[in-house]
Amino acid sequence: MDRALADELRDALAAARAQLRDWLEEGIEQFAREPALQPTASAQRSDPAAGPKPMPPAQATLLGVPSPFGPSPTLESVSAALAGCTRCRLAAGRTQIVFGDGDPDADLLFVGEGPGEQEDLQGVPFVGRAGELLTQMIERGLGIARRRVYICNIVKCRPPQNRTPLADEVSTCRPFLDGQIDAVRPKVIVALGKPATSLLLGRDVAISRVRGVWQDYRGTPVMPTFHPAFVLRQYTAENRRLVWEDLKAALARARGLGGRFD
Ligand code: URA
Repeated sequence: MDRALADELRDALAAARAQLRDWLEEGIEQFAREPALQPTASAQRSDPAAGPKPMPPAQATLLGVPSPFGPSPTLESVSAALAGCTRCRLAAGRTQIVFGDGDPDADLLFVGEGPGEQEDLQGVPFVGRAGELLTQMIERGLGIARRRVYICNIVKCRPPQNRTPLADEVSTCRPFLDGQIDAVRPKVIVALGKPATSLLLGRDVAISRVRGVWQDYRGTPVMPTFHPAFVLRQYTAENRRLVWEDLKAALARARGLGGRFD
């Protein structure tokens, strides 16, 4: 086979693998065999039974909006402003608000998607199965105590059936995430999965393409990586290795910026 063709095939295979990983991360494991009926444009506009809209790309214009908590809030002030929140529909289904967990002065901050069942019951982020894996990666992998990092989510209330948070829910909750980031002032943020990464980057991302590539959120370096729930679903040596590399890079960068983890 000639070399140019071999290169082209290799690139096509790599692109197909990346696309497949994205679909799997989004929870798409199979496609309908029958072609779906296409609603007309007017039906798309007006059908109230069409169900909730999926999360569109985060709006880059939000990036310039200052936090309502001022430039140096405390976690207490942000949490107090959230108490009893009914700003979006997620309030109706929650047991409690899941604000965040860990060191208020952490140099590494992890952002996930939203509380699951266990988190909703216990009031602490990442304490279910995905949380156990995240904790193991932090403690056994990176060798630092979980209580030395800060962990939170883009929405603070559990979405029904653990669905992906919708755009309006994410944007309603965003000032509280910004407040947490401004209060903790981490050296590095680790974005876990597509929704958290899309929000921080201000655009809809394919996580397989951006994971492992440094980004920036309002002046703080961001390392996007796969969500631990995805790693549990696709528990391959390759996925574990990729996340491990991303976390090591995040820790090294935080240390390089003066971060302390003892
Ligand atoms: N998944 C998340 O994104 N956050 C949690 O707190 C738990 C699971």
